[in-house]
Amino acid sequence: MAAFGSVFMPQMALTRFEQGAWSTPQIVSADSISLHPGAHVLHYASTCFEGLKAFKHSDGSINLFRMEKNVARLIQSSALLSLPQPDAATLSQMIIDIVRQYASDVPEPPGSMYIRPTHIGTEAAIGKAAAPTASSMLYVLLSPVGDYFAGGSKPLRLLLEQNGARCAAHMGMVKSGGNYASALQPILKARASVQADQVLFCPGGDVQETGAANFILIDGNEIITKALDSSFLHGVTRDSVLTLARDMGMVVSERELSVTELLERAAKPGTEAALSGTAAVLTPVGTLIANGTEHTVGSGEAGPATLKLRQALNDIQWGKAEDKHGWLTKL
Ligand SMILES: *Cc1c(COP(=O)(O)O)cnc(C)c1O
Repeated sequence: MAAFGSVFMPQMALTRFEQGAWSTPQIVSADSISLHPGAHVLHYASTCFEGLKAFKHSDGSINLFRMEKNVARLIQSSALLSLPQPDAATLSQMIIDIVRQYASDVPEPPGSMYIRPTHIGTEAAIGKAAAPTASSMLYVLLSPVGDYFAGGSKPLRLLLEQNGARCAAHMGMVKSGGNYASALQPILKARASVQADQVLFCPGGDVQETGAANFILIDGNEIITKALDSSFLHGVTRDSVLTLARDMGMVVSERELSVTELLERAAKPGTEAALSGTAAVLTPVGTLIANGTEHTVGSGEAGPATLKLRQALNDIQWGKAEDKHGWLTKL
């Protein structure tokens, strides 16, 4: 199977914002766009994106998972980047249209069609370092993906970074390219120095998130994760997992979690930790590395609560459990 996100459907849905108005969305070839080399996005990073999935059920239907959430987040990201405001209904229809077009290419579970709406500033204007782009392009790319855990799922090793931050504090809730660029060097250094898979950013000792996933801790019947604020990305998976945890009778604590408390709780047998995100749903964390010391989380293996929550979410996505919260849009 090709690497996640390296295969694309040949067409995408696209609309442009020019002279104050959005064009009628079109289905165009996905292998090229033309962009002026002075485009705002290439110099001043006016870019944001989304990641959501469509699932094929055993009745052959195609189902989008929580599309409204991703559409709303792209609109919010666009606003925080001073990009033109996309229209929610238009973007939703673009997603539906392009996924319908490639319905027969949606892989069977555990595979899915990964959907990547992307919004970029296109105005050729290198003088606009401190001004918004006047024009933009919004497109919806599709990438069929297989089983994220096909190669087995070894619990992750996370390096706790207590000095640096993933991105500027006021940009945390924007799903924007610049934030990934800013986290890349710390991640590469953590891989090279302690063979960490990811960096868990904990600025000033406050446990936040990794480069592209939210962090949750499970201690007995309690699930603990940082309360929403503007410093980190508000994951749709995070919200879904917390909702399912409440349904299962777990105590959900959305609050500040310090590195000190995290390491204390991680040392107890039975504690579990995981990363949440659309690509993998929940990925177990086995080891935390802080100030040169390795701390095993619970048994160091994937824990039962993590696997149960992941299964519960997958069951809804795959049409094997009732969609009680109305999370699916059937095409
Ligand atoms: C996309 C992303 C997440 C996960 O969000 P989901 O909506 O669950 O996919 C978490 N953190 C960052 C930084 C992200 O980019």
